[in-house]
Amino acid sequence: MNALLKTDPEIFNLVKSEEAYQKRTIRLIASENYTSKAVLDACGTVFQNKYSEGYPGARYYQGQVNCDGVERLAIERAKALFGAEHANVQPYSGSPANLAIYLAFAKPGDTVLGLNLSHGGHLTHGSKASATGKWFNAVHYSLDPVTGLLNYDEIRRMALEHKPKLLIAGHSAYPRQLDFAKFREIADECGAILFVDMAHFAGLVAGGAHPNPVPFADVVTTTTHKTLRGPRGAMILCKEKHAKAIDKAVFPGLQGGPHNATTAGIAVALKEAMQPEFKEYARKTVENAKTLAAELTKRGFSLVSGGTDNHLMLIDLTNKNISGKEAAVAMENAGLILNYNTVPGETRKASDPSGIRLGTPSVTSRGFGADEMRKIAEWMELACSHSQDNGKLEAIAKETSALCERFAVPGIE
Ligand SMILES: *Cc1c(COP(=O)(O)O)cnc(C)c1O
Repeated sequence: MNALLKTDPEIFNLVKSEEAYQKRTIRLIASENYTSKAVLDACGTVFQNKYSEGYPGARYYQGQVNCDGVERLAIERAKALFGAEHANVQPYSGSPANLAIYLAFAKPGDTVLGLNLSHGGHLTHGSKASATGKWFNAVHYSLDPVTGLLNYDEIRRMALEHKPKLLIAGHSAYPRQLDFAKFREIADECGAILFVDMAHFAGLVAGGAHPNPVPFADVVTTTTHKTLRGPRGAMILCKEKHAKAIDKAVFPGLQGGPHNATTAGIAVALKEAMQPEFKEYARKTVENAKTLAAELTKRGFSLVSGGTDNHLMLIDLTNKNISGKEAAVAMENAGLILNYNTVPGETRKASDPSGIRLGTPSVTSRGFGADEMRKIAEWMELACSHSQDNGKLEAIAKETSALCERFAVPGIE
């Protein structure tokens, strides 16, 4: 990065400082990961210089010989990896990908049905704070207050009552697998488009560690940077009969030119996700999450739904007498990076809620296993019980960074 150092030492120094930070801290944010050096290389290329409005073979700008090649590879790999009839790899990120689904299938004021934000849904599933909640009539299903699980009878009841245009399945904080056959049945009963947002668990699907929604759903969106381990971006997978509507919604409906360098990075990440090692990563991500969940439960942490069968955990800290934000800050000071989160039946405000969310994709990409999960649980408990003791938190931070020194970070030399 000599050119960057010469042109802009301030940014260069922040990049170097971030590299060091990512090396010495334990990243437990469920939506984050580390891309490979190959993905980073593909993103920092001259494909940054090209405009390609349109789709391969049908562009509005000349000079697409190489851009078409990149986008075609990304599309073919996405279709093969997930068994999809059609793929659009142009959405700038998960939120615009989701907005494209509304644009393709609904009119402002139409009803959509998705998971409640404070029960693990996403803002773009019709939250009042989001355009999707302001422009559409969003109704929400919730988790069962006793089991912490989705209640498919209740989803069916609401679907038949509200007759939504879109039935949305998917989440940002639900620690269990989804029953896509049930969602399909409900969508058919109420005449809805089944829209699955697999942003969080797409990497597990690719690696065979989570059921694949693609055969069941009309349309599936995903980010490419979470468990899938690619650059920041998104894709839409759908049945051939919806291909035109989806492509038109992305461009020209919502976006201009695609980010070709990102598309190149997505293509590389998809190739990596087709390798045997990726299956192993997906399997270990779930295994690590289960180990960490068991260790945390042993230490008195209360996990929503009682555990996990994917890559993430949601913890209600009410019984630990500490708020989600206080715990997240204490853990950050101890070198454990995660986020505070609302929990089902939340009684506090979203800016300082009762819970924390954590996940194992990043630490698994880094090579952590069962021993490290046990240490993390121990440190989390210590950080919670000593949240006001900066000396103690600093002592834990020394231990977490010593552990980190033993594990390389993918993509960072
Ligand atoms: C992360 C996420 C998104 C949004 O992705 P961005 O790239 O942050 O816009 C959408 N849906 C779900 C379920 C997510 O978890």
